[in-house]
Amino acid sequence: MKAVITIWQVVLTFPLLILFSGAILMSCNSPSGTDKKNNKDSTIKDSKFSPNEVKKTLFLTFDDGPGIGTNNVRQTVEYEKTLVTFFIIGKHVFSSRKQRQTWAALKADPYIELCNHGYTHAWHNNFNKFYLCPDSVITDFKRTKDSLGFTNNIARTPGRNIWRTGTVRKTDIQNSMVAADSLQKAGFILIGWDFEWTLNPKSSYVSTTADTLVKKLDSLFENNKTRKAGNLVLLAHDRIFKNSYNALQLRRLIEKLKNRKEYRLSWLSDYPN
Ligand SMILES: [Zn+2]
Repeated sequence: MKAVITIWQVVLTFPLLILFSGAILMSCNSPSGTDKKNNKDSTIKDSKFSPNEVKKTLFLTFDDGPGIGTNNVRQTVEYEKTLVTFFIIGKHVFSSRKQRQTWAALKADPYIELCNHGYTHAWHNNFNKFYLCPDSVITDFKRTKDSLGFTNNIARTPGRNIWRTGTVRKTDIQNSMVAADSLQKAGFILIGWDFEWTLNPKSSYVSTTADTLVKKLDSLFENNKTRKAGNLVLLAHDRIFKNSYNALQLRRLIEKLKNRKEYRLSWLSDYPN
């Protein structure tokens, strides 16, 4: 009888053990690992890259969306399956039905990380006055965070190339210093940019073709002209990619970089602290 009970105990206990260990595994895999990146799967990495070969990590970042050009960038990113970061202006999300739809598409895209670019873009580009009011600056960034439900604290100051990470502290225009320090104190991690991909002021085309840009990026890495060796933050604005030639250049840039084994494209939340 005792032996029979023992066998039944084993038979009944074994599935429970499997269920229990499954529950433990599930609790380890979610949701904390995904929270950091707006509930997106942080494991989407290009498996072609071997950590030993990577010498250059490039962070592609796009500012001022959602707006004109945002969908062209998103579609390119989705086609290329590349990790990029968008800095969102809170007010733009609520400006029109189309922008709300664009925001929803960005949120649903597993390759896109979303970060904070303030609510009003420095009181509609009123940079000097804005940065002299640290409390209002904090309120503006918190408003975006709360209204869009950001789960990370990465932010970029409009019109200012300001850095406040654990190890990088830079302020391009000194009268913004107090506001930048206050934002950091309030918990925001400020990441500016190492290089900007701009528009030619005399045309609607990018000032540098993808081929020339890759050479420029190589040179910045090799001459240690980035804030942190081996890491480069590239800034571009969504709106410049409303032009289909420019969108094609973006695709060409990503393709060229993907073919270079020493390059890795990543989300800004992977920027070394
Ligand atoms: Zn901006």
